[in-house]
Amino acid sequence: MTRLLPTSTAGSLPKPSWLAQPQTLWSPWKLAGDELLAGKRDALKLSLHDQLSAGIDIVSDGEQTRQHFVTTFIEHLGGVDFENRKTVKIRNRYEASVPVVVDDVVRKTSVFVDDAAFLRKQTNQPIKWALPGPMTMIDTLYDARYKSREKLAWEFAKILNQEAKELEAAGVDIIQFDEPAFNVFFEEVNDWGVAALERAMEGLNCETAVHICYGYGIKANTDWKKTLGEEWRQYEEIFPTLQQSTVDIVSLECQNSRVPIDLIELIRGKKVMVGAIDVATQAIETPEDVANTLRKALQFVDADKLYPCTNCGMTPLPQHVANAKLQALSAGADIVRRELF
Ligand SMILES: [Zn+2]
Repeated sequence: MTRLLPTSTAGSLPKPSWLAQPQTLWSPWKLAGDELLAGKRDALKLSLHDQLSAGIDIVSDGEQTRQHFVTTFIEHLGGVDFENRKTVKIRNRYEASVPVVVDDVVRKTSVFVDDAAFLRKQTNQPIKWALPGPMTMIDTLYDARYKSREKLAWEFAKILNQEAKELEAAGVDIIQFDEPAFNVFFEEVNDWGVAALERAMEGLNCETAVHICYGYGIKANTDWKKTLGEEWRQYEEIFPTLQQSTVDIVSLECQNSRVPIDLIELIRGKKVMVGAIDVATQAIETPEDVANTLRKALQFVDADKLYPCTNCGMTPLPQHVANAKLQALSAGADIVRRELF
């Protein structure tokens, strides 16, 4: 990125009401077949328009092309049974009915590559594309085949790497892996989670990012956050391993969070997407709020490595709130940019 403090979003943005129920996480599509394909592309253009009008530098599809950040990817794989589901506890937090791995997992076809190529055609701005991370994928499934979280993660890492290489060839500048599970299973992250993530990124020449957050503002997550105490020190457990890893960018949650900001020091040398927009509230940050968070982060991240961002995705928010938050992010980054010159 040539611009100082390039802004971006962590992931999802609100969907138009004709595509899916607004303000609803994982809302089913309202269209089907060819209409759905065309609808997703129209929604992608609208979302891109909103990002560009707000002055966002690194743009995305706003996840208009997926219903769920993990299962939409898994739906395209072989070896997974979506009919006979089982109930599991996701990230030790909430129960969900999930698909079952019944056979060797394989990527039958590319998943998001056509959508990414379509986004590439719409803009000359740098584009970022999100994929689920291997550990978060295994945590969203019941495994009746490999009987080993590590083995299954490794298989998914290989599949993700195939997809990532095709996304890179389609012109994606940053490939981001979403790993909220990294905030929960510290021992596994350090044992094999980061290694599996590196396997998913192997051989890529574009930039790579890992997004580790405290989740959407849904009740299961806000209840969980209440149990985490005064200071959220989860990042402390995994940052030393990430600092040593091949990942280029770490995307994390800062705004209104109880994460002690000095923990960022543990990944010194990495680029950091600093979450300066709280996605769990409809209150709109002022540009000065955003600037304050960025200034605090600047104590621990070199200015050329700081990427202002949102804490997480904004799908559950009303469209006008999400847009206002994007504008605040841009304006806040502008304030700090001016201070740096
Ligand atoms: Zn997130």
